[in-house]
Amino acid sequence: MASSREHARLRSRMVDEQLRKRGIQDRRVLGAMNVLPRHQFVPDEHKPQSYEDRPLPIGDGQTISQPYIVAFMTENLRLKPHHKVLEIGTGSGYQTAILCHLADYVYSVERIPRLADLAGARIGDLGYRNLDIHVGDGSQGLPDQAPFDRIMVTAAVPRLPNVLCAQLSQFGGQLILPIGAAPAQELKLITRTADRFTTRNLLGCRFVPLIGRYGFDSKTDSTSFVS
Ligand code: SAH
Repeated sequence: MASSREHARLRSRMVDEQLRKRGIQDRRVLGAMNVLPRHQFVPDEHKPQSYEDRPLPIGDGQTISQPYIVAFMTENLRLKPHHKVLEIGTGSGYQTAILCHLADYVYSVERIPRLADLAGARIGDLGYRNLDIHVGDGSQGLPDQAPFDRIMVTAAVPRLPNVLCAQLSQFGGQLILPIGAAPAQELKLITRTADRFTTRNLLGCRFVPLIGRYGFDSKTDSTSFVS
């Protein structure tokens, strides 16, 4: 087992080589990724790869996203310390912890109870108390807690769900999500001003499918989505 000094060294190298050199500039995002222990969100058998430049399996056919994708999505969401955020697809909880570090309060929805429990325990152990993890179908958002300043979806949807757009704040609310079927999707940023929505295409990407009412159906094969 590597020491915490060794982990800190690997983390700082990850931030320099995988993030800064590829154009991530937001100091708050770089700072969060420099302090949060990504290896604590990775299952034992993959811990030695925790700071490598790739997604890793977390069980149940799901993955923890590649560090660059986490940084890219977070930077593009331009989080402010007062923001109320909805995340859909808690997974390992690593991205959730980054959001907790940068925003005021985070609601996160995960479909698989085992992953939701593990993520909640890990983030709690790190001392964050500004989050609420729900088990359920996040493709419908969390209407009781809306509106949200920011929404991040970390699994692919076949098309833009109107229910999520409707849960954005009318005052510049933003939603980031991957849209499209296997094998590759487009990461998009939706901005709401009053009842006007604008869409910006950001990056080609690969995510596991969002399974649910406004996602894919449960027979969709996750393995065909992630390389
Ligand atoms: N940000 C996470 C990504 C996990 S992969 C990380 O880096 O660890 C995407 C997650 O979305 C998986 O855990 C999967 O179970 C979850 N998911 C799929 N469909 C869902 C749905 N309808 N509602 C909530 N979570 C869903």
